[in-house]
Amino acid sequence: MTTEDILKRLADGNARFVADKLSRSLQNRSRRELLIDNQKPFAVVLSCVDSRVVPELAFDTGLGELVVVRVGGNVANKSSVASIEFAVKYLGTKVVVVLAHENCKAVAAACDGGKHSNNIDYLLTYIAPAIKIAPAGAMHNDVAKINARLTVADLTGKSVIIKHAVENEDVKIFPAYYNLVSGKVDFY
Ligand SMILES: [Zn+2]
Repeated sequence: MTTEDILKRLADGNARFVADKLSRSLQNRSRRELLIDNQKPFAVVLSCVDSRVVPELAFDTGLGELVVVRVGGNVANKSSVASIEFAVKYLGTKVVVVLAHENCKAVAAACDGGKHSNNIDYLLTYIAPAIKIAPAGAMHNDVAKINARLTVADLTGKSVIIKHAVENEDVKIFPAYYNLVSGKVDFY
């Protein structure tokens, strides 16, 4: 599959999800048997952990099609970067989508400040750069979009493997934004 094929596959799957017409294909025993010794997922989705955002549903994908990496605020920390490296280096995945979403609680918490716990506060530090460059009066959803764009840059900035893959045009990375009610994913 070319990058264009993959983006079309994601867009078509999302259109089915938006229309409440999921195909639910490639989710059966024969697919499980086919995948027992290998997998060739065509895309990685770096998503927030939010329960309302489910990449496999949003793109109407089946088993073995997506590598989904989930971390609050869809940030590029060591573990999420390493997980993406794994897909790029060993599974040959050609597209990475950094999926921000509407009404992200992690982004809201980072914007609003205050103390939560050492671990949560540490996670939220990854969202701080987006808040810093957001224009005055930016809404949380705007910060979420900026955060995804910065995360795209972070993936090459923090990983030699991903950087080389992008330079060699083996991988392309896209920011995207999930709308909670429509289910539509906007690439931007
Ligand atoms: Zn979120």
